[in-house]
Amino acid sequence: MFRKTYLDYNAGAPVHPTVAEAVTRAITRVGNPSSVHGFGRATRRMVEEAREAVAALVGADPALIVFTSGGTEANNQAIAAANGPVTVSSVEHVSVLSVVPGSRCIAVDAAGVVCLDDVRRVLATGPALISVMLANNETGVLQPVCEVAAMAREAGVLVHCDAVQAAGRIPIDIEELGVDLLTLSAHKLGGPQGVGALIGVAGIEMSRFMHGGSQERHRRAGTENVPGIAGFGVAASIAKEALIAGIQPITQLRDALERGVMEIAPGHVIHGAAAPRLSNTSCIGLVGTRGDVQVMALDLAGVAVGSGSACSSGKVMSSHVLAAMGLNAEAAASAIRVSLGWASTAEDVDHFLDAYRHMLQGVLAVA
Ligand code: PLP
Repeated sequence: MFRKTYLDYNAGAPVHPTVAEAVTRAITRVGNPSSVHGFGRATRRMVEEAREAVAALVGADPALIVFTSGGTEANNQAIAAANGPVTVSSVEHVSVLSVVPGSRCIAVDAAGVVCLDDVRRVLATGPALISVMLANNETGVLQPVCEVAAMAREAGVLVHCDAVQAAGRIPIDIEELGVDLLTLSAHKLGGPQGVGALIGVAGIEMSRFMHGGSQERHRRAGTENVPGIAGFGVAASIAKEALIAGIQPITQLRDALERGVMEIAPGHVIHGAAAPRLSNTSCIGLVGTRGDVQVMALDLAGVAVGSGSACSSGKVMSSHVLAAMGLNAEAAASAIRVSLGWASTAEDVDHFLDAYRHMLQGVLAVA
């Protein structure tokens, strides 16, 4: 039988069976959560239970959570909330970077970690808000958000943190992080696609992003995505329990995968390996073969991984994250991202390594 292996959790994690049940239950429920009758009130309870669960995952006040259509909307809304210039790190997700086109970004070092000296320089220019993610989607590199937030607080500057990739993978407490706004997305942690959250702290004004009804305490108009939100809540609870239980098995799998890659081809580079990283992510550089070509070759062998580079109208776009880490255009276009999660197994790693070995033999045969 043709085996299929999914190792692209940073693009979207498989939905937990318990989440799927919750989504199914919610989608068959009658009643708009804004209606005052019993049907509406029961649906409202579902939304509010989910809000509590999501809040508990990051130590937030449930009243300061705005459910959105995903991480992209939450990031857009956070930037829109700024009352003046915004500066972001050079390795942010496009949903942050593209909202502030042309602005000077905060630099990262060769390991992909934001340079605190550059944060200091940026803060001295008097921005209204800076945005620094907690974990990078391509490399898994963790940013020193606590330090950035402390510096920003001293300078009287607001901080937004995109925690989409970190949530459920490392413990997060919004108060301890010291940020003012935090973004989450359900589908990276085993929840449904198309639902996320922008979370604030006390005293932070969250601007109104959608206009219409008074949902989400007047901060985001439109009938709530009740099935999505219900699933998000369950996924957040499962992720919190898993974090309490420990993330050791995934770390071991990722380390075995990287050891295997190094045995197959000792010259390979694991981008970001010199920095603290998420335990599920491996960004593997194979200079000379475009990332999207590697992804296609692995896909033919039944293994799904991600790539930071993409081919658009015949032109290869290299990863802006790897470019910010100082890689030249060829190297920045030659990486794949392998990301594991709750359903990953040792057999998945073995399958990947077999497929990778075959792919490499093909590459070497052509060279
Ligand atoms: N931020 C990061 C770091 C991401 O990796 C992603 C998605 O890949 C997003 C934001 C966007 O989230 P969504 O797909 O929920 O819009």
